[in-house]
Amino acid sequence: MESKNVLVTGGAGFIGSHLVDRLVQEGHRVTVLDNYSTGRPDNLAHQQGKIRLAQADIRDFEKILPYFQGMDMVFHMAALADIVPSMVNPREYYTSNVTGTMHVVEASRLSKVKKFLYTASSSCYGIPPKEYYPTPETAPISPQYPYALTKYLGEETALHWGQVYQMDVVSLRLFNVYGPRSRTSGTYGAVFGVFLAQKINNKPFTVVGDGTQTRDFTYVSDVVDAFLTAAYADVRNEIFNVGTGNPQSINRLVSLLEGEKVHIPKRPGEPDCTWADIRKIKNKLGWESRVSMEEGVRKILANIEYWRQAPLWTPQTIAKATEDWFKYLVKEEK
Ligand code: UDP
Repeated sequence: MESKNVLVTGGAGFIGSHLVDRLVQEGHRVTVLDNYSTGRPDNLAHQQGKIRLAQADIRDFEKILPYFQGMDMVFHMAALADIVPSMVNPREYYTSNVTGTMHVVEASRLSKVKKFLYTASSSCYGIPPKEYYPTPETAPISPQYPYALTKYLGEETALHWGQVYQMDVVSLRLFNVYGPRSRTSGTYGAVFGVFLAQKINNKPFTVVGDGTQTRDFTYVSDVVDAFLTAAYADVRNEIFNVGTGNPQSINRLVSLLEGEKVHIPKRPGEPDCTWADIRKIKNKLGWESRVSMEEGVRKILANIEYWRQAPLWTPQTIAKATEDWFKYLVKEEK
């Protein structure tokens, strides 16, 4: 593909920074917008001088608008993630993930951007009914907490702009992405960050429930491939699942990471299994994942020093941090 002007919101974050690396490698001119709320300048330090980097918040429309001028493609990855803080601060999640997305897609429209990629979350499926495993894009939508709702409303907003203003919008619903640089910020969140910090400190892995629950863990380079494939393909107004189609249990993750474990209570609103039906993206875009769980974990362990700065969680601190989650979502028996 010829060299393009590409804008990445949230480009200093976990997935965003890997995407930026690939876009630069492929010869594109990359601009990154990030407010560094969870993204880290360190994630892009090696790209200094090769990209244009601006500290800006997508909630500030006037500030971000000029950066969209002359852009061919926009990858919208800026968002607030994690469940617990979304229960505590739903308004912040709404303004960043919904209003912020509207700003980004509107700035794209006004700047005549040709292709817009939205980073959606498989959490929109909530706890799918039995007949929806593996889960296709057409499964019922059932967000269980504000994070999931706001990412879904952002998706609807982006697709709506695409439909009304004839901009090519594609939304990718990501399933449990992991890899180097996965977030290590203060809140209790994605399992890889939690377990890797525990491993590096020789503490037991905090396994939720009995650990037989499964997740469709997807390695970050595969996700980046999916974004580029969708960006280059002749598709618009489409939603695609991005996963391996091959879920793995938490117990299997523990055995690959090797270490002791301790069990903590099951969490309300979370599915026992996430499992992407990937037939659509395979058939329409010819994408499928390439990195196995063994390989992904091996690569991550080779970079484990990155998690030395990560917060270290124990059953006690997790219980405290998830109080709000349990408080709001466990309905009392009458
Ligand atoms: N998990 C765990 N211990 C932790 C955090 C998570 O066993 O300290 C499990 C959790 O029960 C879930 C999986 O890891 O089955 C992925 O959890 P995460 O919060 O990363 O993602 P999500 O539940 O949103 O898919």
